[in-house]
Amino acid sequence: MTKIGVLGLQGAVREHVRSIVENGAEAVVVKWPEQLDDLDGLILPGGESTTMRRLIDRYGFMEPLRQFGESGRPMFGTCAGLILLASDIVGYDEPHLGLMNITVERNSFGRQKESFEAELSIKGVADDYNAVFIRAPHIVSAGEGTEVLAECDGRIVAARDRHYLGCSFHPELTDDHRIARYFIDMAEQAKASLANS
Ligand code: GLN
Repeated sequence: MTKIGVLGLQGAVREHVRSIVENGAEAVVVKWPEQLDDLDGLILPGGESTTMRRLIDRYGFMEPLRQFGESGRPMFGTCAGLILLASDIVGYDEPHLGLMNITVERNSFGRQKESFEAELSIKGVADDYNAVFIRAPHIVSAGEGTEVLAECDGRIVAARDRHYLGCSFHPELTDDHRIARYFIDMAEQAKASLANS
């Protein structure tokens, strides 16, 4: 069975576990770097990226997470997780993991829009997707090879760069599990092609 981890240091962990299980895959809450070894894909949840970064450093996750991505196994960052994956963050000198070829800006929908919902069309997933945004970042620019999957008010809110998937919103907070399905499919395809290589 396809095994998907959810980085369990902080944030919306249980909700992602539910959306993985609803899609018939196995979910693992990842608390220690050694748990990454036998996963087919990893979700970095929403929460608070600066807090998550502190915990990543404290528990020795930085290199193991980078190696996970470099091994070709898919990673999916949602909201704060998207910020962790990005190669560039507006106003910061250094990225966190820096694996996905995008520039993001934190808290970029403005105070008056702390949280809101919007119907999105997401390429390859759905054209009637109700997305929940909470103090959301947006993707300011997508680098070469990165495919834009969704926009909201002219801003990029979902993209894919090779085996890296990211979105500004919280797909795990609704009962619509179609993005988790899309990610599990990515993990299954990567598993098959890594097994053949
Ligand atoms: N604003 C948060 C951050 O910068 C992200 C918010 C979220 O994950 N809902 O990390």
